[in-house]
Amino acid sequence: MAKSPEEEHPQKAFGWAAKDSSGLLSPFHFSRRETGDGDVTIKILYCGICHSDLHNVKNEWGFTMYPVVPGHEIVGTVTKTGKNVKKFKVGDRVGVGVLVDSCKRCESCQQDLENYCPQMVLTYNSYSQDGTKTYGGYSDIVVVDEHYVLRFPENLPPDAGAPLLCAGITVYSPMKYYGMTEPGKHLGVAGLGGLGHVAVKIGKAFGLKVTVISTSPKKEDEAINRLGADSFLVSSDPAKMKAAINTLDYIIDTVSAVHPLAPLISLLKLNGKLITLGLPEKPLELPIFPLVLGRKLVGGSDVGGIKETQEMLDFCAEHGIASDIELIKMGDINMAMERLAKSDVKYRFVIDVANSLSQ
Ligand code: NAP
Ligand code: ZN
Repeated sequence: MAKSPEEEHPQKAFGWAAKDSSGLLSPFHFSRRETGDGDVTIKILYCGICHSDLHNVKNEWGFTMYPVVPGHEIVGTVTKTGKNVKKFKVGDRVGVGVLVDSCKRCESCQQDLENYCPQMVLTYNSYSQDGTKTYGGYSDIVVVDEHYVLRFPENLPPDAGAPLLCAGITVYSPMKYYGMTEPGKHLGVAGLGGLGHVAVKIGKAFGLKVTVISTSPKKEDEAINRLGADSFLVSSDPAKMKAAINTLDYIIDTVSAVHPLAPLISLLKLNGKLITLGLPEKPLELPIFPLVLGRKLVGGSDVGGIKETQEMLDFCAEHGIASDIELIKMGDINMAMERLAKSDVKYRFVIDVANSLSQ
């Protein structure tokens, strides 16, 4: 008979899990594997709340395996190291993002693109190589192969820096890959949430002009005065949208729900690029005529590899980029999920795990 989550491994662990598609989270006892020769065990300090966590707890993508402990924006301290570990020592400040394992042999892994490995193991709601389920960062400890652990720069705040481990790399990687970093070019950021507000900051650090395209007029002042965007478009304002047609070189689309792509594509200039990062539960409609007539490109991108994630953390540390966060206690998690569903967060919730996870 299969062992219970609490008994399958030797290290006791405690976190909060969703147990069904109501998405409500509650306390959950489980266990973590022994610290293997190449592993580090990490005491979790902070964990960001990504919209993917919300999609997952509510089974919006249809593949949630309950109970699910979400969380893939993890910052913590190394408490144990296996005997072959070279990158880290006990006491180091580290990060863990969306993936915790991959095959290390395929074409993607060989190119430092473990995030596209067909055997990639996600930080939660996935199966480890030993066949047991992975559980994420809304919990006290995690055990990870050191290859998938990031050095967390000293001058990045551990709470506000945590969201970079998913939101940060998810917007940084396509900007690099699709050549969206040429200073002076004009970037549109659709959706000003966790991913979107980091895209604004990283876009400005690359020297781009940045326009936010949002459904929330009340975010305008902060987008410009706090986050540094150059301009703000409310997508439901037809006059302003019309005036902005043909003005953007690139768009990063972070919208989490089904939405029309046609208005975004029309904002692009000739040869413009629209990169979709949001993962709505249903397909979007893609109008072909404006793509063909303007030689435009629509692409996608999934987080980033470990090497590039380290590069992104170092880039953010150098440019003083972190997330704007609302720090919450673990007990407030269900309220935070409710607000996230309404796009009511400035601009990422981060759980103060170490100070609020009591059994
Ligand atoms: P978030 O904080 O909730 O931000 C999403 C934003 O989308 C909202 O703040 C809102 O911005 C806008 N939005 C929400 N509903 C909308 C609607 N019905 N129509 C138009 N705009 C709407 O979410 P996030 O954490 O940034 O994640 C965004 C999406 O990216 C999610 O689907 C998530 O699963 C996905 N994701 C993908 C990757 C990847 O590797 N590709 C990685 C992480 C997350 P405004 O208020 O400004 O309109
Ligand atoms: Zn995420």
